[in-house]
Amino acid sequence: MMKISTLGSHCALQLLKSAKDEGFHTLLLSDRKRKGFYGRFKFIDEIIVVDKFEDIAREEIQDKFKDSILIPHGTLIAQVPLDKVERDLKIPIFGNKYLLRWEADRTLKEKLLLEAKLKVPKRFSSPDEIDSLVIVKLPGAEGGRGYFLAYNKESFERNLKNLIKRGIIKKEEEDKLYIQEYVLGTPVFLHYFYSPLKDELELISIDRRYETIVDSIGRIPATYQKNLDYPSYLVIGNFPLVLRESLLPEVYSMGEEFVKASKRLVGKGAIGPFCLEGVYNEKGEFICFEFSGRIVAGTNLFIDGSPYTWLNYDEPMSMGKRIAREIRRAIELKELDKILT
Ligand code: AMP
Repeated sequence: MMKISTLGSHCALQLLKSAKDEGFHTLLLSDRKRKGFYGRFKFIDEIIVVDKFEDIAREEIQDKFKDSILIPHGTLIAQVPLDKVERDLKIPIFGNKYLLRWEADRTLKEKLLLEAKLKVPKRFSSPDEIDSLVIVKLPGAEGGRGYFLAYNKESFERNLKNLIKRGIIKKEEEDKLYIQEYVLGTPVFLHYFYSPLKDELELISIDRRYETIVDSIGRIPATYQKNLDYPSYLVIGNFPLVLRESLLPEVYSMGEEFVKASKRLVGKGAIGPFCLEGVYNEKGEFICFEFSGRIVAGTNLFIDGSPYTWLNYDEPMSMGKRIAREIRRAIELKELDKILT
């Protein structure tokens, strides 16, 4: 029996429940403190405990996963160095693991989004250039840690100094900051699945995030809001969303352009889940500030299906289930090479 594995965090419950429902043996890599939590769920057949997720690259741990297919998610990118993922991991990965570097590196990320003809926020190469509201970001996928706003060089320097003093940004991270135009509008996260077996793109679901402190600003009077120069954007949860139907044709074409661009720039291109993350501005244009080249945690909302999967399937279909189905189909067709790296 084929095994499906993942890291114990992010969307592990969705992935392994779906894998079990689809008839796979399920395997979880957990750190010590979460072993008890994951042990509550009967659909997890085996839990391998490590001190830190990075240990997945150690040979004796890899041996335990060798006949499984590993589903990558945000925790793999955030906690396992990418060169280890690319070079040392021999466990077959569902999806294109080389796309993860393009997600983590903001310069590569912008290159791919532009190649896909998506509109992106203006980038400022130095604090001297800031002439409008900007959002300043750290590298990597850590759910908005250390983001701050600035509207000129002085406010940039003041906020950065404060965040370093508070230990939220490390001094050595200062050179890696990415300064991006702050786009005013409604943030939307589009969850896609591209099947290389069918050469077909599906819109699986859409969410918006619930972020502290930024989403709590409206709960205090304006006089107190004035003191919040650096609200955090730490993700706490997600809300489901449906878009105006008239926006959907463009949502599909953006996803298709992304798949084509990824095939031109990153080997096998996008495989399985990916997410385009952006803001609809006042003209109703989608300005894309991020992509994720793997499953995002917003899909956890739709473990029982979404309004969009319901249009294409006569059964509840989650992203996790869609992944498990693709793997099963690839095994039947003997085409695993199309979906693994
Ligand atoms: P991220 O971790 O990059 O997905 O962004 C975290 C949050 O920051 C998002 O949910 C948005 O609310 C906000 N955000 C990021 N980039 C921008 C931008 N360029 N303009 C406006 N809001 C942004």
